[in-house]
Amino acid sequence: MARRFDGDRLVIASHNPGKVREIGDLLAPFRVAVVSAAELGLAEADETGDTFLANAEIKARAAAAEAGLPALADDSGLAVAALGGQPGIRSARWGGPEKDFDAAMGRVEEALTGIRGRRAHFACALALCWPDGHCETVEGVVHGHLIWPPRGTLGFGYDPMFVADGHDITFGETAPEAKHLISHRADAFRKLVAACFAA
Ligand code: IMP
Repeated sequence: MARRFDGDRLVIASHNPGKVREIGDLLAPFRVAVVSAAELGLAEADETGDTFLANAEIKARAAAAEAGLPALADDSGLAVAALGGQPGIRSARWGGPEKDFDAAMGRVEEALTGIRGRRAHFACALALCWPDGHCETVEGVVHGHLIWPPRGTLGFGYDPMFVADGHDITFGETAPEAKHLISHRADAFRKLVAACFAA
């Protein structure tokens, strides 16, 4: 049985304002006030884990301990089956310091040269940790395949080369509201809400 969240304040262990806003919106129905790690001046934990779940937990655990409040962190990325799950937890790093995802998509395509199979999935791990060290974790996924050349200017990261199963347009061509219904992040949030928030 998962531990329920029964507080009214939650730290979002991210320094990305977009992510903090998105998570705040998703949790608004549960009357949870969110405060970001940046607002509290918390240190950014090193992502030393080798899975999405491990990294989400490292970040949430560190923020909860430092803030003395429950904390939520996420970690996400693209896993390409024929590349043994790469770029995986290195998805952001493949964009380099410039966060150049045209280059990162090119790198994925190059790695697939001569390889059959373009199956891939996005994964999103969420960890909710309390100051006493207890953590609840969930993982959401969306399965699909990769196309080339990339299409669409909506979304971010690897969206323009990813087509979700049952669809024929890329995430880069998908309106945000439609993507939010089927994304790995939405799947993870549904699981977290069911386990820790819903009445
Ligand atoms: P992090 O979770 O902030 O460490 O970064 C995850 C990285 O994975 C992002 O920089 C993107 O490159 C990639 N990623 C995660 N979710 C998505 C998505 O929904 N669309 C496209 N790329 C994504």
